[in-house]
Formats: sequence, C-alpha cells, structure tokens
Amino acid sequence: MSEEKKNNKFDETKYSMDTRIIYGKNISTKWDYSHHVTAPISSSTTFRLDSVERGAHGFERFANTKVFGEETPIFIYDRLGEPNKDLLEENLAYVENGEMAVTFATGMGAISAALGICVGAGDEIIAHHTLYGCTISLLNNWYPRYNINVKYIDLTNADNLIGALTDKTKVVYFESPANPNLDIIDIKKIVKIISDFNSSRDEEHQVLSILDNTFSTPFCQRPIEFGVDFVVHSLTKGIGGFGTDMGGAVIGKRKYKDILLLYRKDFGAVLSPKSAWAILTYGLPTLSLRTRNQIQSAKKIANYLNVHPAIEFVNYPGLSNYKYYEVAKKQMVDFNGEFSPGTLIYFVLKGKNPAASKENGSKFMDYIADKAYTMNLAVSLGHTRTLIEHPASMTHSVVPPEKLNERGIDAGGVRLAIGLENVDDIIKDLDEALKIIL
Ligand SMILES: *Cc1c(COP(=O)(O)O)cnc(C)c1O
Repeated sequence: MSEEKKNNKFDETKYSMDTRIIYGKNISTKWDYSHHVTAPISSSTTFRLDSVERGAHGFERFANTKVFGEETPIFIYDRLGEPNKDLLEENLAYVENGEMAVTFATGMGAISAALGICVGAGDEIIAHHTLYGCTISLLNNWYPRYNINVKYIDLTNADNLIGALTDKTKVVYFESPANPNLDIIDIKKIVKIISDFNSSRDEEHQVLSILDNTFSTPFCQRPIEFGVDFVVHSLTKGIGGFGTDMGGAVIGKRKYKDILLLYRKDFGAVLSPKSAWAILTYGLPTLSLRTRNQIQSAKKIANYLNVHPAIEFVNYPGLSNYKYYEVAKKQMVDFNGEFSPGTLIYFVLKGKNPAASKENGSKFMDYIADKAYTMNLAVSLGHTRTLIEHPASMTHSVVPPEKLNERGIDAGGVRLAIGLENVDDIIKDLDEALKIIL
C-alpha cells in the first residue's frame, strides 16, 4: 500500500468538490501536512542531502517517475521542486481532474512549456485565431525563428479543423472562452476530430490538444474530462483570485510530468514558493465561493448591458441570445452540474462606424477610470475588484489595427472582468458612464 493511501483515513469522494477544494488531497507525502492545519510556508532554495549517496539518489529520481514512481520526494533545489509548489500541484491536478500538474512562474511560462515539450523544428501548430495577446506574440515572434509554423483558423466551426490537419501538425491550441471576445469552441467536437485523425497515426505522430482554461477556471469547466490532453492556466487570474501573485500551471497525463519538470528546470520559469503558498492557501480554497458570487453578478450585469441603448452587442456565455449559448451550456458547468457561464463580459458600444465605436469606448473607459469607485481601468481578471480594459490598445495591442477583424476583436471592444463588489454598485457606475455616450 502506498504511503499516501495508508495515511488517508478519509474517502473524500463522498464529499462535494466545493468542500474538497478547501481540503485538497488532505494527505501529502510532500510535507507533514496532516499536523499543520494550514500548509507551512517553505522558503529554502536548497536542501540538506545528508549523504552523497542520498544526494545521488535524489538526482537519479528527479524527473524519473517512470522508474521511481511518486514516493516521498528527496528535495534538492527549489528549481527542481520544493514542498509548496508540489502541494499546489497535487491540488491543481485534483480539482481539474488531471493526473498531474506542474506549476510555472507565470501563465506564459506554462504555455511556452506545454507547447515547448510538444513541438520541434519543422512541426506545425494549429490555433484558434482569437487568443490572448502574449500567446499570439509567442507564436508569431518566436516560433518562426525555430522553424515552427503556426496556422490560425476559426475553431468555433470545428469542421474547419478537418481540412487543416496535416502530417506536420503536432498541436491544436485554443482558449474557450477565448480572450477577449469570449468565442466558445466545442471542446468535445475538437477532441473527436483530433482522435479520428490520430487513429491512423503512430504514437510518435499523435496530434495533441492544449486548452488555455484561464477564463473558466476548473470551477466552470474541466476540459480534461472531455479528452483534452493538456490544460494550461494563468494562476495569476481567477485561481490566484486576489491579484497578489503571478503563476501558471500545465495539467495533464502523468506520462508528461517528467519532461515538463525537465523543461521547467532548464528554461527556469519556476513558481516562487511564496506565490505557490498564497495560491494554495487563499486562492484555491476560495475559488468556488468567489466564482459563484462573480457569476451571479456577471449574469445580472450582462442582462443590464444587453438591453442598454448605447450598446451594440454583448458577448456573455450566459445570455440566451449569445450565438454560442448552447455550446457553453453543454461544457461550462460547475462541480455540481450547474451552468456556469464565467465571470467575463465583452461588449461593443454603438457608433456610426468602427472608429466612432472605438471613440465611444475610449470616452466610456476614461470616464470610468476617473469617476467610478467600483471599477479599475486595468488589465488582468479574476480579481476581487472589477477590472475594465480595452483589448485593442492594451492586452491585444500586439495585433495591428488592420488585423483586428480577422482575429475576432472589435476596435471598440470592451472587456469587463467582474469582481466581488455589490453588483448594484457596479451597475450604478456603469449606468453613469454610459449616460455620457447617449
Ligand atoms: C493572463 C493570461 C495569460 C498569461 O498569464 P500570465 O500569468 O500573465 O503570464 C494566458 N492566457 C490567458 C487567457 C490570460 O488571460
């Protein structure tokens, strides 16, 4: 019997995930966790190895779980692994229903690692055309230097993937909902098309899927349950939850853990133990509480914006007139099976033409930056405070104005990330700001 099993006197599967997200795996070989109510902060860059023999054994075992399994770790050096990151990784894998998680310094650290272990020179990535700005920058500014080609297509129509897959394709990469316009991609359909394509290819040439689940968090969507190979997260956002720490994670099958650990060790995007501790202690255990509250507010705000005369259209997965509502309802569900359309809203203000709509958007956001108590003009999301931003000039400024359209971004699009304020207060501030447009 494994040490973990022996120590675990609870059958946590009898409890709801709302409760389990607070207790995590409860028993861990990573630390004497069973006697600390809150995990201790570990802050040690290096670890005493006792003897050369134990040191050698530690190095032998690092990133070699195929041979040595997951026995009690021999910690060596922070960049290889240490208790706080390891504890967080166990719990992230647990809530996302993956076999393992490896954390990184930031979301971009996680994304570049997930892609980095899958592709090499000559390979091709197929990506949905609407993505987080820095991911576009990674794919467009760096990968061509390594002779890795990126093909952008519209995955909201999953059938587009069928003709796009080639012998060179190694990865299909997407976000759902996508940043910033909340495009929804039918995850099961994408997985099915890839698996049909893979059935005639050998183990070496399997196409892998990577989904950035940052906008949903595992509270709203667990793509691994639909067959996605890797989920990546920016822990900086909803999972971290308080806007105090940066972080990232890759979650997936156990067989990829070693190579991810090697990648992290050598490229060096290591999550700080103090950030790991904060996300483990404050972020994850409050994820259900915060997200449920933010979704309630987001629904009410989306309904308010949806009928406002100054607004051209609203994208929110929870609006029944949203074009992706039916797909969202199928795949965005919380731990108890309730529809959970997320905490972000995207909308466009009216205007005679895109330039006028952009002008109105700027006026509106500048007014909020100056006058609103409940909202901050700031990038990021999943914060205690409501954040509003203009993707075309901020998070997605990597996209030149003439290319915004083909990336599904509107010149005047506004992204609103709901916080924990009283929802009527947010609506009051939005209402004041929208009056200046009418
Ligand atoms: C913020 C964000 C990232 C990058 O995360 P960092 O922690 O800032 O590196 C990646 N994907 C999405 C969807 C994001 O919103």
